[in-house]
Amino acid sequence: MPHASTMVYPAGPDSPHAFDNVPLHPRNGTLDARCPLCRGHGQWNAEIDLVSFRCKRTICGVCLGSGWIETGTDPIAISDIVRGERGEPRWVTRYVTQSPPARGGERQLRP
Ligand SMILES: [Zn+2]
Repeated sequence: MPHASTMVYPAGPDSPHAFDNVPLHPRNGTLDARCPLCRGHGQWNAEIDLVSFRCKRTICGVCLGSGWIETGTDPIAISDIVRGERGEPRWVTRYVTQSPPARGGERQLRP
């Protein structure tokens, strides 16, 4: 049986259907303001089927997926994966500070 499918490819967070089925992140208490780019969603659809709602998503580069940003200079904890001594993957928490947004809107992270 053929499956009906209506695939759309939102070009970015301002495109139609970019936030279909993408939940808003609740404020977690450590970050100050809703992200100006993804407006609190942390990600958006890069591709979505309007019939089945199967999708591929892009993580927001401004808030790194949290939907909220730090407006001051407080360090932000970011989970990351590094390789251990025997090459095994290991979760670590890195602390970075955010600089003010550059002209292109992307924030830069400093270790
Ligand atoms: Zn964002």
